[in-house]
Amino acid sequence: MRHSDRSNFPVAKILGLALVLAVLVVGGLGGAFYHYSGRRGAAKPVSAAATGATPAPTPAATPPPANGAATWGPSAAEFLKDAPFSILLHTDTLMLLTHGRRIENAAGLQVSLPAIRAGQVGAFAAALFVPTADRNAGRIDEYCRRAPLTLNETIAQHPDILREARSVADLRKNWQDGRVSVLRSVEGSWCLGGGLERLPSLFNDGVRMIGLTWRADNRLAMSWENGGDHGLTPLGEAAVRKMIELGVLVDVSHMNDASIRGVLDIAAQMKAPVVASHSNCRALCNHPRNLPDDLIKRIADSGGVIGVNFYSPFLRAGGAAAIADVVRHLAHLRDVGGIGCAALGTDYDGLESRQPAELKTAAGLVRLRQSLKQAGFSDVDIAAIFGGNFVRALTLAENRAGEIAIRAHGATPAGR
Ligand SMILES: [Zn+2]
Repeated sequence: MRHSDRSNFPVAKILGLALVLAVLVVGGLGGAFYHYSGRRGAAKPVSAAATGATPAPTPAATPPPANGAATWGPSAAEFLKDAPFSILLHTDTLMLLTHGRRIENAAGLQVSLPAIRAGQVGAFAAALFVPTADRNAGRIDEYCRRAPLTLNETIAQHPDILREARSVADLRKNWQDGRVSVLRSVEGSWCLGGGLERLPSLFNDGVRMIGLTWRADNRLAMSWENGGDHGLTPLGEAAVRKMIELGVLVDVSHMNDASIRGVLDIAAQMKAPVVASHSNCRALCNHPRNLPDDLIKRIADSGGVIGVNFYSPFLRAGGAAAIADVVRHLAHLRDVGGIGCAALGTDYDGLESRQPAELKTAAGLVRLRQSLKQAGFSDVDIAAIFGGNFVRALTLAENRAGEIAIRAHGATPAGR
């Protein structure tokens, strides 16, 4: 949303900020986070000490895992208790799990249990995306049924390590309990049935972030690869409105610029955040899949985030990218949109082995923290990038959906 829109709603703004602060501070998701100021530039770190809130309890010890114990080692609680919170906004791990890989096996996945542990991953979004082979074989509906069941089974097999998160409250609870959160997202319109009728059932199944396109135009939105100047279709506009009403984050990664502008226009009207779960900066790497500065600013102003993608061709034109390129893109997001818009997309398990050598698996995220620190990012900046900013965006989406629901029922929130 634009600043002027935001200032028309001082009560909503104050309520929203109070909720965000309460969730982040009391939740203790890593100690200190930026609150959303609605302004670019420096934001204020908020600490438990500053507000007098009780620090988050130390996660309780859990019994050793029943399954996959040999590769996992200590329980999640043991390593999470000293680890900072982090969330990967886009992974294709679910695609590989559905095709038979095992999350216990470090050799077959970039987001495996051993890599999660070594990289101190607190949460990851598992995207429901229909692979080309299944599409070509006419198995779209079958895949859309099977993949969520695979995710359920994977989580159920590791109850002491993994747990689903459907809300900011879940992320907080899982973190306090020493569990790694799995957030459900969707990439492409196949599992939406090409329209918007399935949005409520996807929401009920736990999906909290949806990207309407992949590498082709569809009935909802245009892809960067062939969309030209066309943007969202009327059906796509309706889908975006429905997602905001439900409290599902609209993900613009893979869309062409015109479609992204269409999403941002609707989100500005409805005062909802927009995210790009795995997109980089076009000013640094001139690829149409990356975001131009004006769209980075508008996503930041919406209260949303941009998760940096580790795919080499989106990090650096020509040649293999290094961890320094990821730092460069995060610094550019900070300089253009403010530190509050920078996040980690990764795109793990969808990178075709074309990522910086130091970030070969999620285990490399510890190195990324070190590199950011060496580049002058503060601990609070790093906590914001690794998870705090996304938590804020999801909080804003939840709050907005709540406000819309209250209005739809003819009630007025207290104090208005
Ligand atoms: Zn993608």
